[in-house]
Amino acid sequence: MASPPYFKVNIMTERLRIAVQKKGRLADESFSALKKCGLRFTIRGDGLLARVKNLPIDLLLVRDDDIPNFVSSGASDIGIVGENVLKEDMLNAKDPMSLTIERRLGFSRCNLCLASIDGGNIQTPKDLEGTKIATSYPGILGQYLSDNNINAECIEMKGAVELAPRIGVAPSICDLVSSGATLEANGLQAFATILKSEAVLIKTGQELSKEKQEIYDQLISRLDGVIRSKDSKYIMLNAPKSQIETISKILPGSDAPTIIPLAGNDDLVAVQAVCTENVFWETLEALKKAGARSILVLPIEKMMG
Ligand code: ATP
Ligand code: ZN
Repeated sequence: MASPPYFKVNIMTERLRIAVQKKGRLADESFSALKKCGLRFTIRGDGLLARVKNLPIDLLLVRDDDIPNFVSSGASDIGIVGENVLKEDMLNAKDPMSLTIERRLGFSRCNLCLASIDGGNIQTPKDLEGTKIATSYPGILGQYLSDNNINAECIEMKGAVELAPRIGVAPSICDLVSSGATLEANGLQAFATILKSEAVLIKTGQELSKEKQEIYDQLISRLDGVIRSKDSKYIMLNAPKSQIETISKILPGSDAPTIIPLAGNDDLVAVQAVCTENVFWETLEALKKAGARSILVLPIEKMMG
């Protein structure tokens, strides 16, 4: 006979819940960032929840537009969402949203731009005066227009905004742009950026339970390692002793490099450094010019401390 529910003892630990986009431009990079933090999970076609196998964490798989609301209402403890969606939701919310941006994640970068017909008579924000603008971001656009004292009418469209000028809805649009290819394909040209966006980690404004806070702190510490190691490289090279100072100055974003003597060679040393900024070909050319030889640039997978 089955026991009545009040006989059941809850031995489950609390699980931190992260809201992430199920499918779309944010989804893959969000999953990949979480996997780099060591979370093991599988995304199934129709599931709303994915259980992380090796940590007390669940992923809530939803549409990106719902993420700020889920986190603010406490249905999820944290979430990963585009800043564009976050800002629009905050501007449109009836009650103030109880959430904070905890980390900028550096992926899903895009710009919210004003664009109009290429070669047409709207070329600057001032030309928008008295016209109509089609957008899925009436909140952000409305704020931009009022900040810049422009009187224009926002026509809200849920999608296919780039078609608005062609079908005569509005001569200009305010939409997300990454490469500009969609604009170009529709005979449009961007003339102003009103918001630069990237994925952000948001957290409920409510205090987490002690257990959840511990899981959260562990995740954040790993995430910081992932963010830092993303653009970081380990550089190894050999250089004349006399050039160490010049070479150290060229190494981008590095603290004091490690200098190691080379066996059987009094003039040369090995220099090793973690560079926290991108290392470009130009940097390597400058290092070579300064006397560096056998230059190796290695990716860094994880960083801590
Ligand atoms: P959903 O079904 O979850 O509502 P969606 O169609 O609203 O998805 P996507 O097109 O998947 O959204 O975009 C999600 C987010 O990815 C955007 O809100 C934005 O932050 C980011 N993004 C990055 N590049 C682009 C781009 N070129 N166009 C649109 N969004 C982009
Ligand atoms: Zn969406």
